[in-house]
Amino acid sequence: MDFHQLPIHELRSLLLSKQAGVEEVTKSYLDRIRSLDSRIGAYLALMADQALEDARAFDRGERSLDCSEVAGVPIAIKDVLCTQSVRTTCGSRILEGFIPPYDAAVIERLKQAGAILIGKTNMDEFAMGSSCENSGFGPSRNPWDLERVPGGSSGGSAAAVAADLCAGSLGTDTGGSIRQPASFCGVVGLKPTYGRVSRYGLVAFASSLDQIGPITKDIQDAALLLGVIAGHDRRDSTSVNRPVPDYGKDLARSVRGLKLGIPREYFIEGMDAQVADTVRKAMQVLEGLGAELVDVSLPHTEYAVAAYYIIAPAEASSNLARYDGVKYGLRVPDSKDLISMYRQSRSRGFGPEVKRRIMLGTYVLSSGYYDAYYRKASQVRTLIRRDFEQAFERCDALMAPVAPIPAFRLGEKTDDPLQMYLSDAFTLPASLAGIPGLSVPCGFTEEGLPIGLQVLGPYFSEERILQVAYQFEQNTAHHLRKASL
Ligand code: GLN
Repeated sequence: MDFHQLPIHELRSLLLSKQAGVEEVTKSYLDRIRSLDSRIGAYLALMADQALEDARAFDRGERSLDCSEVAGVPIAIKDVLCTQSVRTTCGSRILEGFIPPYDAAVIERLKQAGAILIGKTNMDEFAMGSSCENSGFGPSRNPWDLERVPGGSSGGSAAAVAADLCAGSLGTDTGGSIRQPASFCGVVGLKPTYGRVSRYGLVAFASSLDQIGPITKDIQDAALLLGVIAGHDRRDSTSVNRPVPDYGKDLARSVRGLKLGIPREYFIEGMDAQVADTVRKAMQVLEGLGAELVDVSLPHTEYAVAAYYIIAPAEASSNLARYDGVKYGLRVPDSKDLISMYRQSRSRGFGPEVKRRIMLGTYVLSSGYYDAYYRKASQVRTLIRRDFEQAFERCDALMAPVAPIPAFRLGEKTDDPLQMYLSDAFTLPASLAGIPGLSVPCGFTEEGLPIGLQVLGPYFSEERILQVAYQFEQNTAHHLRKASL
């Protein structure tokens, strides 16, 4: 039986009705990874032994499949999340040999819920990038066209879902790293509201932005996986103490009467015409379903790239100071003194993009420059947040493209960091504001590359954006199309 293509909720029916065993399913996913992933490079490591052992506990009746909606389901994990006793690299050579002594909060939750964790996925080093090409272990490839990038930084997690190398996965989003690869790979990706999901055990990139979320084959799966990982955690002081709703409950509700805003700043000169057309057509589908489309303006959108690429590197330069060759991972031996040990370990351990960010971040935080850069960027961030707050006085959710372009070719932007940064223009604003956003497949280019529709909502409106996306998804068939591998 070919169950690799099934979304989590359908795979679960199969397991519950005993048409397939958990070990059988797990094994066949592992076999599929072993035969296909050399072409895609979605995984950095498999957790095969533990996964099979956990699977057998279900088949032997020691654990019940009723314990949650993801029990018995193979899930892949972005390698920036700490997994106890399992190598965690963050896509970086500097963490060579690092084996976390504890699980991230989301990993604990998945384990409690009975998910089968099958492996750790590839990513841009420390989640810095938009293409997965900044991984210290080689890039991942887009299942729809192996010459193209899967997006990033959660490229491995998105490619794994798109290529049916797992039933669902976790990614992280600091400036678009869940939504953009989901869009490039034709799957669903959801960045929750800042504070919705505990980041205990997530290796920090930019702490005022980082958030963990699901990447899945459809919206219903995103809702149920979010339900498992969301919730308060005292170990993360930014996690919000607020009840976790049943995210699947309202999916079937009609969008009739909902006001959906279209921000004019998200259709810009120079963007790919097929992306713009496809996204506009998707909006018409929702209008056809009874939603009211309203034009809105988010006037500070154009400053998001500049503000983000000050704030994120500033925070990164501070967070990454801990990699000194002493506490974790790589240490270059035989240095003549402490300073040269630091210098050599960091020089050899970090890749070029990470070094660029550390230098940028250190510069913008240095005394005398703080006011001109970091403070200014923080003020711009406030303006961007207000743009959204004002827009949400006029509409219930916003719809926009996820990225100005579809998946680009490997190597196309590696020599031009600025071009790479500019491709994040439509995902950064929501990250700076801290609001939830998702990407749902909404069509394909003539070359057969997936295009995503971005749905954004006010703080803690995950239920609403899921509902809007579900109504779109269920009235179209884009999510059912599969890459041929
Ligand atoms: N592409 C953005 C960056 O390079 C966002 C990355 C992310 O969300 N982790 O920083």
